[in-house]
Order: sequence, then structure tokens, then C-alpha cells
Amino acid sequence: MKFKTTTRALVALTLSLLCAAARAQVTVIKAGRLVDPEAGTAATNQLIVVEGRRIKAVGPNVQVPAGATVIDLSGYTVLPGLFDAHTHLCERTPPEDRDLFSNDIRTTGAWRAILGTVNAREMLEAGFTTVRDVGNAGNYVDTDLRRAVEQGLIPGPTILNAGRIIAPFGGQYHLQPERRELGAPEYLFADTRDEMRKAVRENAHFGARLIKIVVDDQPYVYSADDIRFIVEEAKNAGLKVAAHCLTERGARNAAEGGVASIEHGLRMSDETLELAKRNGVVLVGTDFTEKTAGYLGAGPEFAKAFHALFLDRLKRAYRVGLTMAYGTDAFFDVPGETRGTIALMYLDSYMEAGIPAPYVLKMLTTNAARLLGVEGERGAVRAGLYADLVATPGDPLKEITELRRVRFVMKEGKVYRRP
Ligand SMILES: [Zn+2]
Repeated sequence: MKFKTTTRALVALTLSLLCAAARAQVTVIKAGRLVDPEAGTAATNQLIVVEGRRIKAVGPNVQVPAGATVIDLSGYTVLPGLFDAHTHLCERTPPEDRDLFSNDIRTTGAWRAILGTVNAREMLEAGFTTVRDVGNAGNYVDTDLRRAVEQGLIPGPTILNAGRIIAPFGGQYHLQPERRELGAPEYLFADTRDEMRKAVRENAHFGARLIKIVVDDQPYVYSADDIRFIVEEAKNAGLKVAAHCLTERGARNAAEGGVASIEHGLRMSDETLELAKRNGVVLVGTDFTEKTAGYLGAGPEFAKAFHALFLDRLKRAYRVGLTMAYGTDAFFDVPGETRGTIALMYLDSYMEAGIPAPYVLKMLTTNAARLLGVEGERGAVRAGLYADLVATPGDPLKEITELRRVRFVMKEGKVYRRP
């Protein structure tokens, strides 16, 4: 009898402990300044109440729940976590071999997973709480990486992944006829409508969260009708389409075909920029600086010319008023830098082009959130959204490069970096 009573008491005690653990952890952040990127303004002395993974309340006088953990960021500017809408977490070219093709064909899925794990952590630590991973991840390694983050196995940003890139025969490679199988698993070659439909469905089936197409890296390019067909098929599976375009012709077809975003778009004419704007297409410019273009391994002259193309198109896109989202295309390893610090190097292009800091901040938050379709969940600091927050000592609305000094990172209520 005595034994039974003890057991019952133990069960009761255990249950109450479990309930306490299940009750969501409450954290209150004291923000010296809190940025609203959509408005381009900052409010002083705000309290952000975080319960579990989400923001419960925001304001100067919100009630602080008893027993809440307080994080004092009164000397800091707090803003929503950053987005990189064009990254390749599972890909890396080291300094000794900058050639993508040779890296792609020599590396295993296991190696890609290791790269992805490291890059995901480094992006998060730099302040990127959400990324769109646009392919080159081997055989759906990006889907496993996304799941590992979602299940809390590894630290990393929220990932929307593209799976295998869909492209006309050859993809981004120059194959030889006896080795045509080397296109797999990086690319799904799709030239007929049946192949396009099947490629979209395979991606959806294997966990892609968007469709990435390479429009124009071969002499034959996807037509506007091809692209419309892929966009429609992707829509049936609830997915948006990102289109890699390096030529004016490819970009025009993509803008006509109604993709969600044009990636790079570095040779877009003013007319095509206008067309993209009319069709609600977002430009993810991956605006290479001369320095980051230097890591592509094609020499200083190339780097200079490549950067000049981006800079010119960036200024014109801003003038036209085409919506832009921040995306880097960082797939190269730089000794002494992390994937996150490399992603922030691209800020220099926006400074150089004279794009106002508040607009660049929108590119990094609200514009990207809308493109990714997560604007109801992330990209702002307000009640109901996930608690994805970063903090800097200075004011990024005045000096965008302040984002290189992120000292605090919270993703879904969990702190990954603190001052
Ligand atoms: Zn890319």
C-alpha cells in the first residue's frame, strides 16, 4: 500500500513537471529601437513578448508576464531576421578549384549534407533566419537539410528549397556525348512538355518548396510558352517558380511567362524591367560586388566587367521601380569568412548604386518574405508571427552595412547568438 502511494505521488510530481515544461517559455526583449522595415521607421523603447516560437505582443507598455526571461537589448536596434532569397547551402567551390562542374561531379551527397549543415549554421549566426535555396544540392540533399532544421537536429535558417533544377538539355554544363549522364543529379533535363510536367512533379514529390528553372544557359532557351506551362504545373502543386536568366531574351520570356522571380537578370533591358514590374515579377538580382565576382575564379578583368553589368542593371531596376529581394548566389568558400559574412558582402553593391538603406532593408525582409510566400509568418516584428529577430549596435536604416555587426540572433523564439 505504502509503495502504491509513493508511486502515485511520483506520477503526480512527474506530470506536474512535464506540464511546466510543456508550458511555452516566455521571453521579453527590451528593444532600444525596433525597426519596421515596411514603413522604414523605428520606434524607441519597445517590449517584445515571445511565447514559445511566436511573438505574443509588441509595444512600449505591454504587460510583462511573471517569470518571463528578460533579454536586455536597450542599447541595440532590433529588426526582423534577414532573408537570402538566392543561396546554395549544399554547394561550395574551394579556392583551389572554382569550377562548379568539377565540384558537382566529384562530391557525394554525404559531402553536400556536411556543407549544408555548416553553411546553414553560418547563415543563421550572421542573422539570416530564412533562406531560399535554389538548387545544386545533388539528389535532394536540400530536402534532408530542410527537414533536419525543421526537426531541430541542426541549427539553421528556415529553408525553402528548390530540389533539382529544371533546364533544357545540358542544364548549366557543357557535356560530351559519351558522358551525358553527368547532368544528373544536379539538373533535370526537360525539353518536352511531358518532361517539364514530370520534372515539376518529381520535385514536388521529393520535397521541393519551389521550382527553379534555368532558362538560358544554352543556345536554345525556354520560350515564354514553355515557362507559362511550367508555372501552371508548379502552381498545381502549390509551388512558385524562380527563373535563372542571364540574357535579355531569357529574362523577357520569364517575365512574359509569369514567374515569381527572375534570378540575376543581369542583361535585362529597361523594357523587360518594366514588363517584369507590370507582371508582378520580383528581381532577385544577386548583385555581385567586384570582390565577390573575383571568387568565381575567372580573373580580375571578368570580375570587374561582371560587377559593372550588375551595377548598371541594379540602378536601372531601382529607377523603374521593379520590386527587388535580396539574394546572393554565394556558393564559394573564402578563407577567413563564413557563408554568412560572404552573403553580407553583397551589401556593398547597393551602397555603390546609391540604393537607400531603408529599401535594401525591405529587400532583406518584407519583399523577400512576400516572394517566398511567408509574409504571414515571417519578415516583420508583430504579434502572431514567428519570433525571428536580430539586433545591431547601430541603425541599419541609416547605414545598411551595420547588418555586418549583428550581435543577437533569435529564430522561432530560440536564441542562437547574444551580445
Ligand atoms: Zn545561383
